[in-house]
Amino acid sequence: MTYANLIAGEWVRGPEASRNINPSDTNDVIGEYDRASAAQVEDAIAAARQAFPAWARTTVQQRADILDKAGTEILARREELGNLLAREEGKTLAEGMGEVGRAGQIFKFFAGEVLRIQGERLGSIRPGIDVEITREPLGVVGMITPWNFPIAIPAWKIAPALAFGNCVVMKPAELVPGSAWALADILHRAGVPAGVFNLVMGRGSVVGAALVKDQRIDGISFTGSVPTGRGILAEAAARGAKVQLEMGGKNPMVVLNDADLDLAVRVSLDGAFFSTGQRCTASSRLIVEDGIYDKFVGALSEAVGRQVVDDARKQGTTIGPVVDQSQLDQDLKYVEIGQQEGARLVTGGERLQRATPGFYLSPAIFAEATNQMRISREEIFGPVASVIRAKNYDEALTLANDTPFGLCAGICTTSLKHAAHYRRNVETGMVMVNLPTAGVDYHVPFGGRKGSSYGPREQGRYAAEFYTQVKTAYVNQAL
Ligand code: NAD
Repeated sequence: MTYANLIAGEWVRGPEASRNINPSDTNDVIGEYDRASAAQVEDAIAAARQAFPAWARTTVQQRADILDKAGTEILARREELGNLLAREEGKTLAEGMGEVGRAGQIFKFFAGEVLRIQGERLGSIRPGIDVEITREPLGVVGMITPWNFPIAIPAWKIAPALAFGNCVVMKPAELVPGSAWALADILHRAGVPAGVFNLVMGRGSVVGAALVKDQRIDGISFTGSVPTGRGILAEAAARGAKVQLEMGGKNPMVVLNDADLDLAVRVSLDGAFFSTGQRCTASSRLIVEDGIYDKFVGALSEAVGRQVVDDARKQGTTIGPVVDQSQLDQDLKYVEIGQQEGARLVTGGERLQRATPGFYLSPAIFAEATNQMRISREEIFGPVASVIRAKNYDEALTLANDTPFGLCAGICTTSLKHAAHYRRNVETGMVMVNLPTAGVDYHVPFGGRKGSSYGPREQGRYAAEFYTQVKTAYVNQAL
């Protein structure tokens, strides 16, 4: 089947299409997805601009009803959409269904949030005057999303944008158009008026670039890699657009001598290898105190050895394939780099063959890695983790912060004192205590510091910071 773009409420065929392939079985073609032309992106932006004044004036109840309806359908189709996610991205079926559930809940959350958003009324410093602060929609928002959370990331941008009265032109990652298309179809049928939500699929260099440069786009919300994000910021901010970027991570998980070893292994395993390590919050740096280091490396290697790497939709699979050939090549390149740098490859890092042709890689653990090695500094975005030795807690914290990134961090310890000190002093937007860096809630802010993020946080009520703009009104009480 061929899937078209959604522009001005119509399904519009593009000049060419891309084939969407299952990374667990490259013989399995999911569908052909139309690539929009730059001119079609302009049409979508024009439609969004035209739809904006009426959409911004709809009642909060009208918008809440549409979001709630979309959320209900997503939740009802959890299994089917979870299957699609597993098929197009390679995450396990359990993870796929979990992600779909999260997307549905996000729509439900913002259906409620739009009813709760409030302005403020203050006294003036001058007599006889009231001051009112209200929130208005930002306008037309361009969204550019990555492949690793094909439905949750679009959901956590689209839901608040629509809730707060914005119109949207969205470009999903080229590797995973299927989930975005399904979401567009759900929104269309839930009653989102023509032009309010537009889907334009295709290449970043054509479709994404056309969105970023267009003067009619008031804001760009981007999730993806650091180089792409920085390029978008330079261009969009220069023309005065509001920009929100969520980018990479090289997230530390500190394991102290007093940690519960079994818990630390489980937390590190999930944090490093859940979603085949293809998550911005993956704990790819395991910073372990000297006294527990050898025991931890042994126990973690055993736990990794018990993982089942296979077809994402097969029962019993715990780790699916990586997303495509170029990601596989990149992961294998870093496995080589780690060995050249002198780290000890304890387990994994091998290309695996399975019943179907797919991009299978055994999860790799490097012991005796240092924090200066490329495998510990650069985001690999695959199932490759460095285990770094720390003399004591102070050194572990210093190493944790010695990175250009600042997305998420974790610590495994039974010491309340160290846990509290770490929470306060680690330079990240999110921190986990005795929990994996994988797994975050949908109703609280998500985002990082330093090189990982730019602009207001996403999710929860903090999402309003990006999708609304504040107006201050001074009102003379005499009139
Ligand atoms: P990417 O930067 O290659 O692509 C992201 C999106 O940008 C895609 O839709 C792509 O088509 C588009 N794009 C590419 N070039 C463009 C251009 N010149 N102009 C406009 N758009 C362009 O990232 P990816 O490989 O899809 O995703 C992996 C990256 O995403 C990792 O670095 C990961 O850490 C990051 N990520 C971050 C978060 C977060 O919330 N911090 C979440 C998930 C993924």
